[in-house]
Amino acid sequence: MKVTDDGARRQAGESRELHIVVIEDEPTIAESLRVGLTDEGMQVSVACDGNSGWHIVKEQGADLVILDLMLPDIDGMVICRRLRTLSSTLPIIMLTARGEVQERVQGLQQGADDYIVKPFSFDELLARVHAVLRRAGLSQQPTVLRVAGLVLNIETRDVTFHGRPLELTPTEFALLELFMRYPRRVFTRETLLSRVWGFTYAGDSNIVEVHMSNLREKIGDHERKLIRTIYGVGYCLRPDATMVA
Ligand code: CA
Repeated sequence: MKVTDDGARRQAGESRELHIVVIEDEPTIAESLRVGLTDEGMQVSVACDGNSGWHIVKEQGADLVILDLMLPDIDGMVICRRLRTLSSTLPIIMLTARGEVQERVQGLQQGADDYIVKPFSFDELLARVHAVLRRAGLSQQPTVLRVAGLVLNIETRDVTFHGRPLELTPTEFALLELFMRYPRRVFTRETLLSRVWGFTYAGDSNIVEVHMSNLREKIGDHERKLIRTIYGVGYCLRPDATMVA
């Protein structure tokens, strides 16, 4: 069977892109997931209804399925059960709207490996994706990131700068993790908002400046050497910055 064959090859250490199938009928969410996961080096297939999603998994195989509960043609739970008949080990993350959760939590737990409640940020979803892939033995993501004296452990949530522990809020942690995963890459405010605060965040965009300022303060980056501001564009982490703790 294709699904399990692919999983076995990955566990044998053969290098190839992970294939993620997104079954989601809301175009903005589907597109954000496609762009974000492709950026992570994954191969992404998007289906906007249950039937086409099912056929993609059946014909092409998948390493992980992100499945919306409310689909235009077939209920997500039915798709989930069908996918389970195809492979009992295929990781499945269910997307649900608030209110659908309480009554269906049991069903979700029976069929899916995890579920995430809308609205969610891309980083929240990505953390779940990596956690589920790790459990399945498929993750390629390192658990400890090291850049320019900063050490960030994704699992224990510990962060140090030249050995000095940093007490970061979850938002500051998410921001720093993003910068450390992509040193030198410039992130716009809009990208940071959608990745850290959520796709549908509509508040004051000043919130990015406030959290960036707090993060720099905790690191001791008063001269903004480590995390640069690229005026009119956004922010980027400079791994070559010379800074002492
Ligand atoms: Ca839906």
